[in-house]
Formats: sequence, C-alpha cells, structure tokens
Amino acid sequence: MAVDRYPRKKTRQIMVGTVPVGGDAPVTVQSMTTTKTADVEGTLAQIYALKAAGADIVRCTCNEREAAEGLARIVPRSPVPIVADIHFHVEMALAAIEAGVHCLRLNPGNLRKPEEIKLVARECKDRDIPVRIGVNGGSLDKRLYDKYGGATPEALVESAQIELGLFAEVGFDNVKISVKASRVPVMVEAYRQLSEVVDHPLHLGLTEAGPPPAGTIKGTAGIGTLLMEGIGDTIRYSLTTDPVEEAKAGRTLLEALGLRERRNVDLIACPSCGRAEIDVYRVAQEAQVALESRSIPLQVAVMGCVVNGPGEARSADLGIAAGKHRGHLFIRGEIVRVVPEQDMVAALVEEAEKLVKEGFEARLAAADKGAAREAEADRAALLDAQGSDANRSEALVELINRRLDARGTAGEAQGPATGRGGPAPAG
Ligand code: SF4
Repeated sequence: MAVDRYPRKKTRQIMVGTVPVGGDAPVTVQSMTTTKTADVEGTLAQIYALKAAGADIVRCTCNEREAAEGLARIVPRSPVPIVADIHFHVEMALAAIEAGVHCLRLNPGNLRKPEEIKLVARECKDRDIPVRIGVNGGSLDKRLYDKYGGATPEALVESAQIELGLFAEVGFDNVKISVKASRVPVMVEAYRQLSEVVDHPLHLGLTEAGPPPAGTIKGTAGIGTLLMEGIGDTIRYSLTTDPVEEAKAGRTLLEALGLRERRNVDLIACPSCGRAEIDVYRVAQEAQVALESRSIPLQVAVMGCVVNGPGEARSADLGIAAGKHRGHLFIRGEIVRVVPEQDMVAALVEEAEKLVKEGFEARLAAADKGAAREAEADRAALLDAQGSDANRSEALVELINRRLDARGTAGEAQGPATGRGGPAPAG
C-alpha cells in the first residue's frame, strides 16, 4: 500500500537529532517519560520501551538541577532523540542545552519574559538546536485568555505567533509548533488556523486526553482528523497510563492511515455472531498477544466461522476461520491448512513467521493440497446444520406471526390492517 495516502500540507523541515520532522519526512511518533529524569537507568529503560513500541522521539522533563544532570547522562545513551520539557525556568532551558538535548519544548504560557525567551533562542540558534513552541490551552498566557474570553483557537494561535515573533527578533526559526487543547473541536480548529498562517512543522496532540479507552478515542478523533486533512508532522497521544500505550497508539494510527509502513501486526477479527464456532474474543485476544511481541508486518484475521470467514477476510494477508472443532488457515483467501481447534493460534503464529521469512508465493506453493477440499466439506456441513440463518431470525419471525395470527391479530385492533392476519376493523 502506498504511504502518504493523504496529501500533506507542505511544511519546512527541521531536524530533531537525526530525525527529520516536516517537509516530506514521514510523520513521527512522540511520547514522554514518566520517570524522574534524575533516575538515569529508569528513564533509559522507559525510553527503550517507548522506542520498541513505536516512538521516534522522546521528551523528558527538565524541571530541576538533578533532571538536567540526568539528561547529560541519558542523551548519549538514548536510542532516540531527546526533547527537554521546559516550564517556568529559563535556567532549566539553558541547562538542558548544556546537557546536549536534541530539542527544547518551551511553554509560552509560563516562560514569558521576552529577554529570557530571546536568550534561549540565541543559544539554540548558536548550537543548531530546534525548539517546539508548545502552547497549551490549560496554561495559556492570562493576557490572551482575557483578550479572547478563554483558551479559544484564536488565542492559542496568537500565543504561538507572539513567541515566533520573539524568535524572529534574534533570527531564530528552527521551530516546530503545537497548539494543544483538551477539547477536540478547539484543538482541531486551532491547528487548522495555525496551518494557514505558518509553514513550520506542526506537532499534533490533544492535551490531557485522560485514560484509555476514552482518551485514546478523543486523541484519535483530533489527531486523525487533522492528519486526514494533511495537517501534522509529528504526533503525541497524551494518555493517563503507561506511556508505552501512547507510543503504540501513535504508531497504530499512522499505520492505519497509511502514513507509516506497517511494522507490526494489524489484527482484524469478526465481531462474532450466531454462526461463530469458537469464542472469537478469546482467540483474537490470544492471537493479538502472541503476534504483537513479534515483528509481523501483516494484516492477520481471526474469523468465527468458515461459512463467511475466509471470504470476508479475503483481503487479509493471513487468517484463520473456525469450523467444527477445526481451524481453516488461509492466505489471502486461499485455504492452505486445516488444523485442530486447540492449535489455531499456534498455527497462525507459525504461518505468520514463515510468511514473513519466505514470502507469499513460497507459502502458497507449500499449501496442503487436500486442505481446500477438507475445508469445503466443513463449510458444507456447517451450512447444512445451520442453514442460511444461523441466528434463527426468520424462524422467530415466522413463530411470532403464527402466534399473532392464532390470537386473531390483537395488535391490529388499534390501527389499520397490515395485510396479514385478518380483515381491517369495520367502520
Ligand atoms: Fe464471524 Fe462468521 Fe459471524 Fe461473520 S458470519 S461475524 S465470520 S462468525
């Protein structure tokens, strides 16, 4: 599948360490550590976990001397570029620069003295370190809050522009920008407005989204909407949970939109229904756990029955559908093996690994020649047993009508005749 399915708005490109952000660079995933930055080993362990989950860039707070010292030790050992998160204290920004961070995040809402902002910008300019202007609705400059009567999209955009103006005074424009709000419509509108007036790369995020699943859904609504409009160069989910979930969500969203190549499994599964021959939820969950820990860049399907499963999941790279105590393994809709029910997940994982290693042609050539015939027999037997109405809806409708007819169509006494079950009321 082609990447960049949604034409992206042209932005200038900056470099966060070795990672390009903006221009024609792939949209990147960010997250933030929750450890004390002074805890070097703990923070590095989290950074490695975030990278494994899909983060391209990681932010750490730099809120005290010990945190800045920690950054000096973390940066050289980090597998991804590090952004220092700065609030209130210009000294912490300067210390983070000394620590060698790859980017600073400055909050214009709480680092407000123009001379201090320009001092940091000059230092960043001299050392070629980019800055994210990180406007946040919850900590918006009070003057703008009063001017606009709240943290409106216009107020957020103006805050970013004021900061850009200060940077421009010292000739610094190595900048990306975020205008985060906690309400999706405000956030979306703020970024839309911002993208009309700047060409800097934009860092998308819905701030304080809360715990999953609601937080993930809200983040996806905001970030996904903008990405599909071509707005956004780097993203962060702000979830109240292990930040690894943020990185996973970010990566999953970009892969789902075709903005990044698939790196891990995309598990699809039917919602189950009266035809299901297995506990679809359990098998899908087991398959998800077994596959996500491996590098399987495939779309894999778990389907509850062999009657409709292989057909409905024909576009999946690989799938399994449940028959009577057996699973039908299929590659792009073609049955390649029939396995006992208890081996379904293991067979799926084994085949996924072989597919990645050997390719589709080889695995289709290695298919069990009798599998399709066996599968067809299972399918026919199930159709025989269940008929074409596994949920028995039509049988139930017939039963209801028979009973109503037998009782003289009681329901019709209060309304016009339905044409079934007797004459219309007289008069
Ligand atoms: Fe799943 Fe089969 Fe029902 Fe479709 S018909 S939802 S594949 S059990």
